[in-house]
Amino acid sequence: MTRKIAILGATGSIGKSTLDLVERSPERFEVVAVTAATNVEVLANIARRTHAKLAVIADEARFRELEQLLAGSGCQGAAGEHALITAASEADLVIAAIVGCAGLRPTMAAVEAGKTIAIANKEALVTAGRLMIDAARASGATLLPVDSEHNAIFQCLAGSRREDVSRLVLTASGGPFRTASAEFISAATPEQAVAHPNWSMGAKISVDSATLMNKGLELIEAHYLFDLPSSRIDVLIHPQSVVHSMVEFVDGSVLAQLGSPDMRIPIAYALAWPERIETPAQRLDLASIARLDFEKPDLERFPALRLARSALESGGAAPIILNAANEIAVASFLAGRIRFNEIVRLVDWALENGHSGAPKSIAEVLEIDRQTRERVDAEVKASCD
Ligand code: NDP
Repeated sequence: MTRKIAILGATGSIGKSTLDLVERSPERFEVVAVTAATNVEVLANIARRTHAKLAVIADEARFRELEQLLAGSGCQGAAGEHALITAASEADLVIAAIVGCAGLRPTMAAVEAGKTIAIANKEALVTAGRLMIDAARASGATLLPVDSEHNAIFQCLAGSRREDVSRLVLTASGGPFRTASAEFISAATPEQAVAHPNWSMGAKISVDSATLMNKGLELIEAHYLFDLPSSRIDVLIHPQSVVHSMVEFVDGSVLAQLGSPDMRIPIAYALAWPERIETPAQRLDLASIARLDFEKPDLERFPALRLARSALESGGAAPIILNAANEIAVASFLAGRIRFNEIVRLVDWALENGHSGAPKSIAEVLEIDRQTRERVDAEVKASCD
């Protein structure tokens, strides 16, 4: 039986890798809906190519253009937040690959509808992890992690009892500045920051990898997905990006998942779960890699990881504030408005100056997110004047 798929964020890096796999196995997958923010031409091309029934553009100003581009294709066009939220309604499997907190409402709608969700959109889990896990329990939704580290842990946990797990180890490549001096890092340009040594990804996550905020977000993501406290989730720098993460069990056994650094491997696992499908990813040749290195993260040069851990341990609104401040700071850095080391300073500032309790609803999460964005944006403007 074919699986009906909705790809939220089809025009992005994860979206494209997903499409590559789906188009190689037309007997298994039928794309029913695809979405994007503004990239209307690419979205229409994807919709035509995949024979999707629905294409949603978040930016309502581009609706007319989308309709024109889809004319005669049999694919219905739609626009705006509401259309984005309902885009996945016809799907069995939803690929949540919108970047940032913008993906929260559509992902949450899929969770509440009891769908199977391949979740790449880590910011949705960071900001609303508790609410999302509780909603999944209530609706019977299944969350399949796509982030390579969480997917690795998910694979290592298959067939194990949760009470036998003692520790998770998230591996991190260390990003483009792993060996750089603090002076070099502080003056890094957007071009240098997005030039990831091992992975090809969207701009935001590439900058997050350069600050190590990505690993901090993943720490919070792992806490919610696998229900373990911060004290039982370690981070280890592993520059080759071959070991994607590990699980230590109570008997001292450690299971790791290995593979070449190609997102099509974890995406394929989520697409076909509980089965596996072939991927064109390069096979791992350990003899030619020859060595695997591991080191502790340097929290002096990469304080983002410390901030994220402390936000997780503080709980309440702290992870939402951390994420929102980071999103605004990264966008400001990419736009050339602030220097690289200002990203973490702004996140620290937002956490120091923002206080509120744990949100009880998605509306509250989004309100904390909105207020934080406004505050950090004003701080960026003030620092530019
Ligand atoms: P990209 O920037 O490449 O793509 C983002 C997608 O989201 C695009 O389709 C974009 O549309 C859409 N989008 C952006 N903003 C909005 C919005 N406001 N409303 C609706 N849609 C929006 O990101 P990635 O594919 O790199 O990352 C996606 C998610 O997956 C992130 O959460 C990231 O952390 C996570 N992830 C990514 C990995 C990777 O290898 N890339 C690895 C692990 C996790 P448009 O093209 O029109 O802008």
